[in-house]
Amino acid sequence: MAHKFDTKSVHLALKNKNAVDSKVTPIYQTSAFKFTDLDDLERFYQGEKDYLYSRVGNPNTDELGAAVAQLESAPEGIATSSGLSAILVGILATAKAGDHVLASTDIYGGTYQLLAHELADFGIEVTFIDFEKDQIEQSIRDNTKLLYSESVTNPLLRVEDIASIVAIAKKHHLYTMIDNTFATPYLCQPYTCGVNLVVHSATKYLGGHSDVTAGVLVGDEELINNAKSKVVNIGTNLSPFDAWLACRGIKTLSVRMERHVKNAQALADALTKNANVSKVYYPKEVSSNGNGAIVSIDVTGTCDINKFFQSLGWVKIVPTLAGVETSVSYPLTTSHRALPKETQDELGITEGLVRISVGIEDAEDIIAAFEQAIVESKY
Ligand SMILES: *Cc1c(COP(=O)(O)O)cnc(C)c1O
Repeated sequence: MAHKFDTKSVHLALKNKNAVDSKVTPIYQTSAFKFTDLDDLERFYQGEKDYLYSRVGNPNTDELGAAVAQLESAPEGIATSSGLSAILVGILATAKAGDHVLASTDIYGGTYQLLAHELADFGIEVTFIDFEKDQIEQSIRDNTKLLYSESVTNPLLRVEDIASIVAIAKKHHLYTMIDNTFATPYLCQPYTCGVNLVVHSATKYLGGHSDVTAGVLVGDEELINNAKSKVVNIGTNLSPFDAWLACRGIKTLSVRMERHVKNAQALADALTKNANVSKVYYPKEVSSNGNGAIVSIDVTGTCDINKFFQSLGWVKIVPTLAGVETSVSYPLTTSHRALPKETQDELGITEGLVRISVGIEDAEDIIAAFEQAIVESKY
């Protein structure tokens, strides 16, 4: 029977109701999945069908979780709405009210905020310490459940001694969770070193093009299943389109990282030779694939920092990192703004500290942009 106008406008017809063989995964931009009858619906609850409702599961978010799990050599992975929500559900999978978490002081500013200000409301206590072996050992309590740190820290690029953290955790029967955002699985795979949970802000190198906010948590099957139920119940699921964008980014992770790392090494070498740069932070021996793509420099006392930022030309000033375009950020008033002054001083977050996210342009152009900004802003 022919439908009337309003019905026709709502019930659109697909030419081919069965799957179309598109080369890449389509975007399942749907909030829910349909069933032919009640028996079909029951099949979901019996585990015979994968999808019911997108907050509970969606092919695109599943593809992202599985992709990162594969790159990290971990058995399971889940995608979440942001790096921070991946960290939250990861922690909630390991610790509950009454438990205690030990975290490194020099973690990402947003993570510091989450751990310092929100977890207390869940009844989870957090202590921040320098992640030195002795300090960790001395700070472990009866109710400590988790050791939390980052493989390469921000913005001063300290390389974490993951093997030693895993050894301490095993001895005291604790979980370990490592944020691997800066290193990416191209440089470092913490799960293969015995870490229980590895977290990523896919907003950064995994996505790679600064057009998506997403998080991924991978690790032990039991913990990921637990974290997955938190995602479903709290509602920190990722949208299908954002998952699709992050998956598209991951396909070029290796080729992007290869160039990022090469350019970063060249910039770090050039700025180390520059008499107006008092300190260059660029790690050594992170992996056989190189040392990462973030270079931080300190120009306190030699350059007018405002003038420096004004003189950067095509280099973008943005409070993020890891895109294909070279960009800079100013940790003192952005990522590390919320830290107490004494912690900022202790960590080396000075007035002249600039964090450079080295892009995939020509190395000569990147070096020239920074050398020029230094010349123009010199006292
Ligand atoms: C950006 C970032 C986060 C937070 O990720 P969002 O996607 O912004 O929530 C966590 N850890 C590190 C190291 C980051 O760089």
